[in-house]
Amino acid sequence: MRKGILIAIAVGVATGMAGWGMHSAMAASDAKKSVASEVQSLQELPTTLSSIKLPTVEDPAWLKQAKAARAQQQAAVDGSVRTVTYDVSSRGVITANFAEFKADANQTLNDSRGWARMGVRFQEVASGGMFTLVLSQASQMTTFSATGCDTQYSCNVGRFVVINQDRWQGATPSWNNAGGSLRNYRHMVINHETGHWLGHGHAHCSGAGQSAAVMQQQSIDLEGCKFNPWPLASELWSTTLGISL
Ligand SMILES: [Zn+2]
Repeated sequence: MRKGILIAIAVGVATGMAGWGMHSAMAASDAKKSVASEVQSLQELPTTLSSIKLPTVEDPAWLKQAKAARAQQQAAVDGSVRTVTYDVSSRGVITANFAEFKADANQTLNDSRGWARMGVRFQEVASGGMFTLVLSQASQMTTFSATGCDTQYSCNVGRFVVINQDRWQGATPSWNNAGGSLRNYRHMVINHETGHWLGHGHAHCSGAGQSAAVMQQQSIDLEGCKFNPWPLASELWSTTLGISL
């Protein structure tokens, strides 16, 4: 008897608890359903928006013509600029900042005062360029050519445009004594050695007080001319690229 009552109480409590549990579970379920339907309608919004078609607006005839002329003009400009590719390497022990060497050389080659005036754009490539620009330890210069290069200066041998690291870092005594800046020496040496690759030999001073030709050996003797790191107008030709004055 006592046992039966206890069981009844136990069952009653358990049922009540279950009831409470069921009630709260149902409330949560309703809330979930309502959130889900709101999410769904939000998700459908972009579809609804994209189904609304905007009217197509055509360019007026005058604008179409102007755009076509502009495109044609641009193509003509692009077509007249020759791209010359080059890769860059080093030889021996390099103590100069190699990244700076590459950046400075590219800036010189594409400078509006330089060989770019021939309508040429110089593009550095990882390998297989039309020429190779090299920064070389001074003592390694003669490995390019025992007769064409020496440890004092820079040189050009075939596809190699070789810059002597000592000159890159310190120019020459005569340049420095005349107050020439290192940046201008770097412009000059890149332009001069690339000039050899372009097909130029050496030039001489055209008259006292005149600007030196970039192909003059300015590192050695100015012959009465003024230092000039850029090619003269009369030097804007290249047998290598088939460009005449
Ligand atoms: Zn030379």
